[in-house]
Amino acid sequence: MSELLYLDHNATTPIDPEVLAAMLPWLESEFGNPSSLYSLGRRSAAALTKAREQVASLVGAQPSEIIFNSCGTEATNTAILSALAIDPDKRHIITSAVEHNATIKLCEYLATRGYEITWLPVDKDGILDPEKLESAITADTAVVSLLWANNETGVLFPIDEIVSITTRRKVPLHLDAVQAAGKVPINLEELGVQYASLSAHKLYAPKGVGALYVNRRARYTPLFRGSQEESKRGGTQNVASIIAFGKAAELAQVHLSIAAERIGKLRDHFEQTLLSAVAGVRRNGTDEPRLPNTSNLTFTGIEAETALLLFDKEGLCCSAGSACSSGSINPSHVLTAMGVSRDEARASLRFSLGRTTNDTEIDRALEIIPRVIAKLRAAQPASGSPVHITD
Ligand code: PLP
Repeated sequence: MSELLYLDHNATTPIDPEVLAAMLPWLESEFGNPSSLYSLGRRSAAALTKAREQVASLVGAQPSEIIFNSCGTEATNTAILSALAIDPDKRHIITSAVEHNATIKLCEYLATRGYEITWLPVDKDGILDPEKLESAITADTAVVSLLWANNETGVLFPIDEIVSITTRRKVPLHLDAVQAAGKVPINLEELGVQYASLSAHKLYAPKGVGALYVNRRARYTPLFRGSQEESKRGGTQNVASIIAFGKAAELAQVHLSIAAERIGKLRDHFEQTLLSAVAGVRRNGTDEPRLPNTSNLTFTGIEAETALLLFDKEGLCCSAGSACSSGSINPSHVLTAMGVSRDEARASLRFSLGRTTNDTEIDRALEIIPRVIAKLRAAQPASGSPVHITD
């Protein structure tokens, strides 16, 4: 088996060794329930307090505004449902056509329960026009829920303008910050947003732990009833994973500017080389503003799924579309919303670099990708076989 060449950090990240070291004691001797009153339990509770401060610090929040939970999807569901509970007479939700499935599937479900959903469009570069948001808001609008950074293209939405519109129009705003956290600076306090979703496994911590930011002045209704997290999210906390999340948030803050600049340069070199060295390659999504680690490219005439299999033989991991519901026969909804044809969307690959991605790995990727693309183009006409959609 070839050495692993992992360029799929938007799907998930490896656990940082320092994060693993921080969490291990909490899987071994420090197994106390943080709600228990004896010292074993109190140590767990104290560790949760520290993790809450670390996560809050990464996103410019107060620790009391961070509610730990199981994942970004839970955070997004909780935020939207919480906002809907504020005024049950309001039945209109505004979101965009390029959201993560965490938002899309919930809104599709809510549509079957009588809610009206506005799916804001994006332009060919994946950019959202704030004026379209402004004109979509009505007296019936209960919540606006939008991505900060798109998981497939890395395109950043105009958050400042979005917040100024929802603030002026007095509509609660939820931001899906799962891909943005740790990759771009975030200050939720300054921004004045009501809810934001976070997920640890995009930050070099384990899967299955996340957080919802709820501004202290925003109304909130729990999804899981219970006494933990000050009754805001029932269920005994996943102590070891939350501690890992805290450590990962601390490291993300340390690495943020330096890593982003280095990764951005490496991504630009990777992307520019492919755009100039391989015929029939196009970037999906604007160059800027975009996450520094993400490159989504269409290689005309190929089948992305077959490319993934050939890359896999060489140890190279990347994604076709986004990574959650593998086996989907639909081309990426993000790309089609940007006006990319179904065939071109099926010929698109997402490469997402990470903190440990280095020059040698990018050189290797730049050797493998053109060779595999040439082989595919020589061997197969594009067919309509399924694309694996991964987050
Ligand atoms: N939102 C975005 C933008 C994502 O990329 C993901 C990733 O999976 C999620 C939400 C869901 O997060 P989780 O996997 O923690 O449920």
